[in-house]
Amino acid sequence: MALLSIVLPAYNEEQNISNTVRVLSGLLEANGIEYELVFISDGSRDGTFSEIQKAAEENPRIRGAEFSRNFGKEAAIFAGLKLTGGNAVIVMDCDLQHPPEVIPKMWQLWLEGAEVVEGIKQSRGKESVAHKLSAGLFYKIMSGLIRMDMNASSDFKLLDRKVVDVLLTLPERNTFFRALSFWVGFRTESVTYEVQERQFGESKWSFFSLMKYAVTNATSFSTLPLQLVTVMGLVSILFSVVLFIQTLVKFMSGTAVEGFTTVILLILIIGGFLMLSLGIIGHYIARIYEEVKGRPKYIISRRTKEAERKSCRRAFQTDEEENEVSS
Ligand code: UDP
Ligand code: MG
Repeated sequence: MALLSIVLPAYNEEQNISNTVRVLSGLLEANGIEYELVFISDGSRDGTFSEIQKAAEENPRIRGAEFSRNFGKEAAIFAGLKLTGGNAVIVMDCDLQHPPEVIPKMWQLWLEGAEVVEGIKQSRGKESVAHKLSAGLFYKIMSGLIRMDMNASSDFKLLDRKVVDVLLTLPERNTFFRALSFWVGFRTESVTYEVQERQFGESKWSFFSLMKYAVTNATSFSTLPLQLVTVMGLVSILFSVVLFIQTLVKFMSGTAVEGFTTVILLILIIGGFLMLSLGIIGHYIARIYEEVKGRPKYIISRRTKEAERKSCRRAFQTDEEENEVSS
């Protein structure tokens, strides 16, 4: 029988774990779906991991691991994918903002042959105005840069084993899961859902973390900003040709004394362009630097008992193992 793995990244979510486990296991058992839940505690500073451990002791279908520090949701998703053994894998938030009722629909589509099932947001749920605006801006920028419509996409999706395996072979460290599932292709279906309200705790994203996320993802997925530098250069050259001619003509006709304003403006404009360009290039060099260092995406410090028993089909024989601290 086919096995469904569900990956749930969790950062300071102690209040959510037991409820999420109850809801998901109830739903999946009611629908007769064989399942396993894989929780990744992303360096939580509260009792998230002990909650996971407690759940794992009660239910052998639950496993989990804890990062040595906060590595971010992307890393948690990839660590989770690596620990799964299911024929299909669903990634969802553990705060139940991704409605579990959609899971049977995704599963059905997978049974009918879909290899990727995208969860498409129908509405963004209740959020503060600042969050809505910054998230809106983020998706505008991303959609433009990646040239894929990201507006309604989310991290809530089902992936076939094949797709998971492909994603796990990608060598890059700066991943953007949401866009990668578009990028890899495969037979894609989608389901729409309404974002639910968060039950406990609060959103882990601040305006600045979202902006940082936007810039990192934009540059890891697109080189358009670099091409923009070329365009800025071309525009300045065009501008300088015009001024060059004007200056020469003025010089020839002997009216070329005043003009400090022009000089100051030119220095300011060109200086600004140069610094901006250097900044953009620097950002890409930073990305290259990070990739070249080849550090692991995450470090696992602890695992639940069940996970340690190496029970699952493919996890745990991986290179990431070397990076683990045994406890
Ligand atoms: N999350 C994570 N690491 C982080 C931030 C968030 O694993 O550094 C998890 C979090 O526990 C949740 C999911 O990512 O399961 C979505 O986070 P959150 O609910 O804070 O974001 P929002 O729903 O407001 O976009
Ligand atoms: Mg949430």
